[in-house]
Amino acid sequence: MKKLTRYILIFCLISGLSGFSHAKEEKPVKAKNVIYYIGDGMGPQSLGLLVYYARLAPNSIYEDRTSNTEKFLKEAALGLMITNTESTIVTDSAASATQFSSGQYSLPHRVGIDFEGSQTITIMEKAKKRGKSTGLVTTSFLQDATPAAFVAHQISRKNFADISAELINSGTDIMLGGGKKHMSSAELIKAAKDKGYSLAYNKAQINNLSGKIIGLFGEEGTPYAIEGNSEKPNLLEMSKKAIEELRTNKKGFLVMIEAGKIDWAEHSNDPGLILHEMIEFDKTLGYLMEYVKNNKDTILIVTADHETGGFGFNYRNSLPSDNKEGVYGGSYFVTFDILDKLYKQNRSYEDMGNEYAAASQKEKTPSALAKILSQGLGRNISADFVEKYNSDIAKIQAAIAREDGIVFATNAHTSTPVMVMTYGHKMSGYAGLYHTTDLAKKIMFSLGL
Ligand SMILES: [Zn+2]
Repeated sequence: MKKLTRYILIFCLISGLSGFSHAKEEKPVKAKNVIYYIGDGMGPQSLGLLVYYARLAPNSIYEDRTSNTEKFLKEAALGLMITNTESTIVTDSAASATQFSSGQYSLPHRVGIDFEGSQTITIMEKAKKRGKSTGLVTTSFLQDATPAAFVAHQISRKNFADISAELINSGTDIMLGGGKKHMSSAELIKAAKDKGYSLAYNKAQINNLSGKIIGLFGEEGTPYAIEGNSEKPNLLEMSKKAIEELRTNKKGFLVMIEAGKIDWAEHSNDPGLILHEMIEFDKTLGYLMEYVKNNKDTILIVTADHETGGFGFNYRNSLPSDNKEGVYGGSYFVTFDILDKLYKQNRSYEDMGNEYAAASQKEKTPSALAKILSQGLGRNISADFVEKYNSDIAKIQAAIAREDGIVFATNAHTSTPVMVMTYGHKMSGYAGLYHTTDLAKKIMFSLGL
């Protein structure tokens, strides 16, 4: 009996080993397509805000209280990524995108240039060489650091005219975002047309186009989700259009989709604005998940370039005057209804501030500002409250955040590690802790670049 077991064991080992060596001879099956979905500035903090809102807001727009992000995380491989540059702990979008598009270390403000000053070779350039179609989609402007670092090579992220020329010369099949301001010269428009691009400036135009397209849906960024602009395509609509066009290439595609204005909202320390950008991010994620489920040769990688703002809810020891609910052990804890209040905001503070600033001196009264704020925030802000802060909108914004139990660490970027959520073809290599340069190398491996 013992002998028999030993024979079986030896047989299994031999057949197992031969199976292994056979597998080794075979070329690893690579993914055909990669969808690289980046939330600019999207740390665990803003993802947390979205999840808390979906689950806990008394009037959550998520009927089953489950965001697409939560559904995605049930199936995705989860990685944690640190974002430092070659010599700084905190990064900007330029260095981060340079690093995770090429695998080379860089420095702040550089796009597509490594820390030694050499041009990088990016995953997008490599994919193009292999005959794949490529695309860039962003709610920021196309010349901004994240999209630029995938195809342009500039020592300063602010070289917008040169970046525009490089975008056009890159031959990237689909480029959709803002940035009309930096691509409006007759020379650049001619260059784009000579390269075979059709140009679109609104939703109606883009729907009628196919082939190589540059869409410019804002002078700088595209509209914030909170604005509900129906004339310009939103992130979901741009992403659908890009993928529908790119997927027709039999050799596959690589697309970078950026929810770019999460970062802008965080720089503004504007909580309602962040929430609306995150909901837009989440809607687009729902579409991308569905796409990958139906297309098994595709990987969806969802991550961020860094965290911005250091958002959080906290508890505090000074009690609000009007609401004693949420007091435990002498401290005040905000309750779930705050999440509904944030959702009710329908304009950015910046927009409200601009309206007030544009009013004539005579019209600049505390009650006028209180009216603008009450409408824009969807809740009552009194003239007395406005007067208490000398009609200074920055001070009022900070005071309302304090009342709401909200804190921001900074109006800049932080070193907080970001999440990498990956789903689809051979995703397991994306779990664990790694650096932005490693992510580029993983993608190159997945696509066989
Ligand atoms: Zn930023």
